[in-house]
Amino acid sequence: MSFERVAIDELALNLNPLQTGGRASAAARKAAARFSDGYSVCDRCAGVLHDIEKPDIKCFAVELAEFVGMDRAAVTMGAREGKFAIFHTLSEPGRGAVLDANAHYSTYVAAQRAGLEVFKSTNTGDPDFRVTPDSFAETLEYCKSKTGKPAAAALLTHVDGDYGNLNDAAEFSKICKDAGVPLILNCAYSAGRMPVDGRALGVDFMVGSGHKSFAASGPVGFMGANGEWTERLFRTSLTHPNKNIELLGCTARGANVVSFMAALPGVKERVKRWDAEVAKAVRFVEAMESLGEIRQVGEKPKRHDLIRFETPLFHRIAENSRKRGYFLHSALADRGITGLKPGQTRWFKMSTFGFTDEQIDYLIEAFKEIARM
Ligand SMILES: *Cc1c(COP(=O)(O)O)cnc(C)c1O
Repeated sequence: MSFERVAIDELALNLNPLQTGGRASAAARKAAARFSDGYSVCDRCAGVLHDIEKPDIKCFAVELAEFVGMDRAAVTMGAREGKFAIFHTLSEPGRGAVLDANAHYSTYVAAQRAGLEVFKSTNTGDPDFRVTPDSFAETLEYCKSKTGKPAAAALLTHVDGDYGNLNDAAEFSKICKDAGVPLILNCAYSAGRMPVDGRALGVDFMVGSGHKSFAASGPVGFMGANGEWTERLFRTSLTHPNKNIELLGCTARGANVVSFMAALPGVKERVKRWDAEVAKAVRFVEAMESLGEIRQVGEKPKRHDLIRFETPLFHRIAENSRKRGYFLHSALADRGITGLKPGQTRWFKMSTFGFTDEQIDYLIEAFKEIARM
């Protein structure tokens, strides 16, 4: 069996939005390597993972909560595990969960596993695919009329993985407060890339992803709660009073949590450069659209690095190419660029996160050349 993976990131520019924010920092790699033994963080554990002081998971949980503006946070195995824990805490038989139209599949699965019926809002469709606060309010109403009670939970995807649209969470939290429904903000694509402050946004719960947006190897993420919800989410077992029910006692307990810890200082610095990240995305979109027969879909101008393009231009070139649908992937590979799905030419998603201005120039030149093929 081979575990070689040198071609990605080390030798190529990787455009896969799933991976650009999760490239492990040097510090995260080193920490993960040192803790690669099973249960390696448990040498000094007195029974509670989040109370371990060597390595200092205890301090880290406090620092992380502060960083994202939540009263309390805990490390999970990923964003989805956090969502499930929160839905599970709030779930009651016969109740619903309201989700935005652009919610990730893992949000559905998490709500369903927790026994909640899912009610999905609408979006504005082509070209913006925006979720409006009004559509969310209507779905909250609809859920109530169908189940006879307010939704047990609402979840807003802060930045979605299809279009990279950024939702104004503060507006949605007002609507949820009025409806008496706790709001979960899914920050898988936001926290760790851009500044996020859960208290300022007025959200009750938050989840985030370490391997997607915190430069950590993971699998790792976090969940957080504010105010009165903190105690409910972090309730403990009657039989084992120091074990958190929703954390199943312990969550990330090895290389994954230390990679997250080691990555945080760098992440705190990089979120300060978010305006420059957005400027890169905007510049890239302009350059791509100037090639003709290429259109960015989702909100415009971009406020996030995840970009979705419709590319009839590349589809037309593919039809005349010997390599057919594989021409784009192969032409990019020839130029040291990877991360698009092989065979895809009608549309694709990509991310400009973390590239230098020079690398963005290089990417633009490469697509320009390919457009002339
Ligand atoms: C990637 C993604 C997830 C999944 O994150 P994990 O940490 O892997 O569970 C959840 N929600 C959104 C919006 C995502 O883009």
